[in-house]
Amino acid sequence: MNLLSPTLLIASVAITAIVFAIVAFFSRAGLRRIVGVLLAAIPIIPMVMSYDRIASDFGWWHYPSVTAVNAPLAWYVAAALGFGAAFGLVGWRVIRRWEMRGLLAFLLVFALFGVARDYGYSLTTRFIVFGPGRDMLQVAHNFLDFFVEESCGQCTPCRLGNPQMLEAVKLLKKGACPPEFLKSVKELGATMQVASKCGLGQTSPSAFLSILEGFGDEIANRAPSA
Ligand code: SF4
Repeated sequence: MNLLSPTLLIASVAITAIVFAIVAFFSRAGLRRIVGVLLAAIPIIPMVMSYDRIASDFGWWHYPSVTAVNAPLAWYVAAALGFGAAFGLVGWRVIRRWEMRGLLAFLLVFALFGVARDYGYSLTTRFIVFGPGRDMLQVAHNFLDFFVEESCGQCTPCRLGNPQMLEAVKLLKKGACPPEFLKSVKELGATMQVASKCGLGQTSPSAFLSILEGFGDEIANRAPSA
């Protein structure tokens, strides 16, 4: 799924606009405050775009779903509406109610929000983010070592499939994996996903297949390693 597809971008702007409207309603903000917080959120757009550019230039990270340095503008509009305007109103209300204690609590929650969100994403999605320079074949190797070890061997797809995929990774690392073998192992992986008895066998091919799909060119052109 492309998280930056036009449909999802439009949906994210619409959802954050609704969230903002709900927050504005329950915070009982007046019209002037609502306009003020919306205007104050506008500079967040160039600020985050600049940060993304700096992060990309220094090789820290970039959006995995687009090849450009910056995400589409709608992405930043949604961020400004949510993290700027809506959070701004919440902060205003909390600080007004609890003053300095409210400010400290709000800043603490705001600082921890990203960590909690990313942890939640990692628990509920199938994404894993690796830093630049990571050898994805070694990643697949590590995963498959684990799954070969953990497979209980009760059902055939998992018992035979994981060692076959591990063998394919070892051959790919040496630059000596015959295309026919790789093709048959890919088919085996797809079979494991539907025919294995439990979740271990059904999910164990996912990383391998995903790495082949996403890094096929790099893997095909890499220099053989020991
Ligand atoms: S899929 Fe589950 S039951 Fe089948 S061999 Fe693997 S671990 Fe055992």
